[in-house]
Amino acid sequence: MHPSNTQNECSLHGIIDMHIHASPDAPAHWWGTDKLSLLEQYRAEGCRGVLLIGNNWPTHNEAFLLSRLLPGILVFGGMVLNFCQGQKLNLTAVERCLSDDAGAYCRCIWLPTMDADFDLHKKGKTGIPVLDGTGKPLSSTLDLMALCRDAGIMLATGHSGPEVSLALARAAKSTHLEKFVVTQSMLSPRALTIEQAKRCLDEGAFLEHVVLALFKGEEHSLIPAHRLHARTTVENMARCMELAPERQFIGSDMNQALNPHPLTALHLFLHGLKDAGLSRDSILAVSRRVPARLLGLES
Ligand SMILES: [Zn+2]
Repeated sequence: MHPSNTQNECSLHGIIDMHIHASPDAPAHWWGTDKLSLLEQYRAEGCRGVLLIGNNWPTHNEAFLLSRLLPGILVFGGMVLNFCQGQKLNLTAVERCLSDDAGAYCRCIWLPTMDADFDLHKKGKTGIPVLDGTGKPLSSTLDLMALCRDAGIMLATGHSGPEVSLALARAAKSTHLEKFVVTQSMLSPRALTIEQAKRCLDEGAFLEHVVLALFKGEEHSLIPAHRLHARTTVENMARCMELAPERQFIGSDMNQALNPHPLTALHLFLHGLKDAGLSRDSILAVSRRVPARLLGLES
């Protein structure tokens, strides 16, 4: 019998967390646990793997070493194109990331996150551009899409706003970039509406859903900045996942010192999706099959 036939869909066993931060990372003193300790806990729960994201520095080198330290759990990383990598999208950094000793551990390039226009605009600053003044992708954005397509890895939208994500999804389709991901698709303040989510799916994008979305808002967060944001409900995310479960996946985006432990949060999330009516097969898709496919693993 195939293992997925007997798997408890709400168990952490076999899941892949596609969005996890841990110390060392920025902001300083923000994270609850360091990468080694956290991954030991993930392995003890029987999780299949993780995709590490770092706000400033690439994580593929760490994934290379952590994989050797922790047999039994798959560890991958990538690079966020924030200002640490240059004032513009730095394709040379991506090429070198992919071609160095740890290149095989780089499975995702993220467009700017905290250095995106969406985040910096409200502080009166300019972020790293991905579109031109008319809303069309820059040539460097298209070249980056081609680079990720040829390497068979993901390109994710980072902290692009909803309309920018839609423009990028259209460009990804015309570039034949298969693994194009809308990061944190229902996380406020950049949450897609369900209509925007449908349009992204129609363009062939994958949507990421992060558990952090449940831990925003005044009643659900101890983090001052997160208390100002709207909370997304698990029912909303389940309704979106039902549209196309084979094109959506989950990540925790947790491990902030002031939030519940990411494994606790993931467990609650999986049960929440089940209670919201998401089918067993769809839960297996978003927590296991789609992550495996996007990471290039045999599922
Ligand atoms: Zn994150």
